[in-house]
Amino acid sequence: MAQAPDTDIVIAGGGPVGMAQALAIAGPGARAKLSVALVNPQPLRDAGKPQSDGRAYNLAASSMRMLAALGLGEALAPHAQPIHDIIVTDDGDGGARPPLLNFDNRDETPAGAGQPASYIIAAEHLNAALAEAVLAAPAIEVFEGERVAAPGAPGAALAVRLGSGREIRTRLLIAADGRASPLRAAMGLKSLSWPHHQTAIVMAVQHEEDHLGRAYEHFRAPGPFAVLPLPGGHQSSLVWTERPDEAKRLMELDDEAFAAELELRCGTELGKVRPAGKRFAYPLTGVLAQDYIAPRFALIGDAAHGIHPIAGQGVNLGYRGVAALAEVLSEAAFLGRDIGAVDVLEAYQQWRRFDAMALVAGCAALNELFANDNGLVRAMRDLGLGAVERIAPLKRYFVNEAAGSHGDLPRLLLGEPV
Ligand SMILES: Cc1cc2nc3c(=O)[nH]c(=O)nc-3n(C[C@H](O)[C@H](O)[C@H](O)COP(=O)(O)OP(=O)(O)OC[C@H]3O[C@@H](n4cnc5c(N)ncnc54)[C@H](O)[C@@H]3O)c2cc1C
Repeated sequence: MAQAPDTDIVIAGGGPVGMAQALAIAGPGARAKLSVALVNPQPLRDAGKPQSDGRAYNLAASSMRMLAALGLGEALAPHAQPIHDIIVTDDGDGGARPPLLNFDNRDETPAGAGQPASYIIAAEHLNAALAEAVLAAPAIEVFEGERVAAPGAPGAALAVRLGSGREIRTRLLIAADGRASPLRAAMGLKSLSWPHHQTAIVMAVQHEEDHLGRAYEHFRAPGPFAVLPLPGGHQSSLVWTERPDEAKRLMELDDEAFAAELELRCGTELGKVRPAGKRFAYPLTGVLAQDYIAPRFALIGDAAHGIHPIAGQGVNLGYRGVAALAEVLSEAAFLGRDIGAVDVLEAYQQWRRFDAMALVAGCAALNELFANDNGLVRAMRDLGLGAVERIAPLKRYFVNEAAGSHGDLPRLLLGEPV
């Protein structure tokens, strides 16, 4: 008789997507009684420390419903700032033009019920809440300070080898190991990746005036400049995209000189704006895996699709995959099927691949369109955005899309357990 696996599923990667996947499959609310081993090189709590990341996530209403269904609603509530409206501006000659678009950010779909379409949560708070829940879940065994070194050859089970030499026998290995995904390559899954030739500087800022739940997205030729509201009214999260050499120069400035440059870029709406934390720089690259699955193997999150942050959709896209994969695996487990079999995993790939590809391509195209300083292109895009601004159902469509409440939604995104 074949040796029984040590655990049903190994998840490689304890980022925001890997941790959510572990909870969706084996958290206290999960119905299928599957066990998970979560492997991450750093202690999970490290990503929840103050000033550990600098990013703040724009989380769609559907992602928030899933996090609540995973039991994180209470932990996240004090850190979630609803976005009430969004002002989009474009570079004019010598400064920002009047708003091109002004979105009332309510999710009017039946699932959204008129609630805010999105929320901003600092990455450290999201990671802290996820880490606490994962570490407290009896069906999740956490291997911190470890990495998956070799995925093993698929057979009746997979013998996953960790960096320490330890082996874990499992039915399925899920790789949530980020954009570079060493495991994607190790499994021979092809991917397409491209540099955006941009670097995003992210940090918290504080300002005199109350943001009133308003997000600002200003499109400049070097890339988007976004100011996203954080709880409390007088702090926001900055995403300042520049060409790599200019970003390097800005990162090397001392605090006073950086504050002066920041002041120059910010409009007057928020009064005086000052840095309120450490600066972090993220070189932007795009990546798309051709296939998300192989026998006893599945890719999720940035390992499957690394998207441009122009629309703040990376984690949201990851969570759509988390919810779909959890539902597929849960149904397979109830039916007594092999959760690592390709025909089971194929249902996940079919559910998610096209939508993810369209969004990654759409965000890359949007970035190219706005990073273009050609007068004709500028005139065309302003015309297009002007039309969106005037056609109310079109605007509503974009807000509902951003809320993630459209399409064939997995149950977790509706806030229902699997
Ligand atoms: C500037 C910027 C702003 C962004 N803003 C937003 C936003 O507003 N909204 C949004 O939704 N998204 C946003 N994103 C995207 C978001 O950050 C990513 O989509 C998200 O971090 C992906 O999470 P992940 O868990 O898939 O991967 P990661 O966060 O990259 O985590 C991967 C984990 O895997 C671990 N790992 C690596 N190799 C191994 C191995 N061999 N074994 C085990 N573990 C391994 C790593 O140490 C890490 O902990 C932004 C991104 C950037 C750069």
